[in-house]
Amino acid sequence: MTEIATRFAPSPTGRLHLGHAWSALCAHDFATARGGHFLLRIEDIDPGRARPEHVSGIIEDLLWLGLDWEGEIVFQSERTALYAMALEDLKRRGLAYPCFCTRKDIAASASAPHGPDGPVYPGTCRSLDPETRMRRMAAEPHCWRLAMAPAIDEAGPLLWIDGDGAAHPASPAAHGDVVLARKDAPVSYHLAVTIDDAAQAISHVVRGRDLLEATHVHRLLQALLDLPTPVYIHHPLLGTASGERLAKRNGAPAIADLRAGGTDAAALVEAMRAGRFPDDYRML
Ligand code: GLU
Repeated sequence: MTEIATRFAPSPTGRLHLGHAWSALCAHDFATARGGHFLLRIEDIDPGRARPEHVSGIIEDLLWLGLDWEGEIVFQSERTALYAMALEDLKRRGLAYPCFCTRKDIAASASAPHGPDGPVYPGTCRSLDPETRMRRMAAEPHCWRLAMAPAIDEAGPLLWIDGDGAAHPASPAAHGDVVLARKDAPVSYHLAVTIDDAAQAISHVVRGRDLLEATHVHRLLQALLDLPTPVYIHHPLLGTASGERLAKRNGAPAIADLRAGGTDAAALVEAMRAGRFPDDYRML
């Protein structure tokens, strides 16, 4: 039987709030209740937003909560060579192409339909001729996109399995040609997460329902890169009493503030385990 392993994979772009603590707790308890391993991965691929002080803040907060992880912390910023290899492979197979469009170009495109994560890329750069591509690559910033239709054709029908053992058809098409490597970062969230969950031998990805749609894309990338597929468990998100999702902008309490305010960490974690949250926050 494969060993159970889960992970918490925060992006160090701010301090952890109660919603993050809940997510870390779900992943931690899933593993420890089954004699498995709980791992920590810092998703610091965004050079503009990731900050070292937030990394130390995350570590402090998790230790304060008693959510210890096993082994070395994995930093995505140290793994860019691996991501580049996977991207090269997809390029060689004609499944990735450079895109020169700006966010504004995409938003302005009359044909851009909306997908699970916002406007879907309308495909402007998909069929540029090789010469134009080469010329523009030498002169213009560009990201790399997955050629979604041929990728789906190549992978064939795919399923992902949830925590109850139910199989769900993977349907990544609605995401369009997702980004694999950004203009300003060597890799995208989708590609890095897929590669790292496999590299860390994650058996169960336990993460919030807000990432359910991304699972369809990750399942496709696993098939294309010949990576194993974990079970996916999407836990309910924490929200305010009026049903708004917890976020920093609606005053979600930072773990550091709870600590500074004298909260008892063990009592907080036990209450969350029992489904009780401070300040009328609740599961949505
Ligand atoms: N780094 C992502 C975030 O902070 C989570 C990635 C994941 O769990 O797949 O939202």
